[in-house]
Amino acid sequence: MRSLERAIAKYDLPAVEKISAAQAESAFQVLIATLLSARTQDATTHAASTRLFQRAWTPQAVAKLPVRDIERLIYPVGFYRTKARHVKACCEILVSRFGGRVPGTLEELVTLPGVGRKTANLVLILAFRSRENICVDIHVHRISNRLGWVTTLAPDETEQALYRVAGRRWWPVINQYLVTWGQNVCRPVSPRCGDCAIAPHCQKIGVEDSRHLVGAEHQPRPRAKRGTT
Ligand code: SF4
Repeated sequence: MRSLERAIAKYDLPAVEKISAAQAESAFQVLIATLLSARTQDATTHAASTRLFQRAWTPQAVAKLPVRDIERLIYPVGFYRTKARHVKACCEILVSRFGGRVPGTLEELVTLPGVGRKTANLVLILAFRSRENICVDIHVHRISNRLGWVTTLAPDETEQALYRVAGRRWWPVINQYLVTWGQNVCRPVSPRCGDCAIAPHCQKIGVEDSRHLVGAEHQPRPRAKRGTT
C-alpha cells in the first residue's frame, strides 16, 4: 500500500473522490455521484453529476424534478433510466424519512433505492470520514485477488476478507488506491504488469488467463490464499 500510495500520485483521482473533494464532502453529492458511477466511465460520471447539481443540489430540489428531466441531465451514464428513477426515489425518501439529510449508518444507507454496500461504504468514508469501512468495487475485487491478498468470488466477500487481512490504517483508502490503479495500470484486460510499481509484491493470480478476455471484466479464479497486506 505504501508503494501504491507513491505510485498513484501522478494519476487523476477517481470521479467520486474528485466530486467529494470539490464539494467539501457533501454527503448528498457523494451519494448521488456514487449512484451514477456504476458501470460508467469516470469522465461521464463527473460530467453527469455536475449537470445534475447545477440544476438541483439538495434532496428536496432533486425530488421535485420529473424523472424525464433527471434522465436527460444524467445521460449518457450507464443504465441512466434506472438510475434516474433511483435518484428521484432516493431523494424522496431522504426528505420523507431522514429530514432531508443523508443518514450516517450503513444499515440506513442500504435501505435507499439503488444503494448497496459499495455505495454505502464510500459515502461513509468520503462524506462521514469513517475509518471503519472498506469500499469494494470491481477494481478492488479484481486487484486484491490478483495480488493474492484474498481469494474470493464476489465483491461483498472481498470486503469481508479485506477486513481480516488489510492493515486498519489503509481501510479508508483501499478503494481510492486500487480504483486508480485499476483504471490506469491493473486494467481488467491486458494489465500493464511491466510498468507496475507493485509488481514485486504481486502474485499475478489469474492474470495470464485474462489476456484473451478482450472487452470482458476479468473475474479471478479461486485459489488457495497465500499472502496478506
Ligand atoms: S503486477 Fe500486474 S496484476 Fe499485479 S497489480 Fe501490477 S498490473 Fe496488476
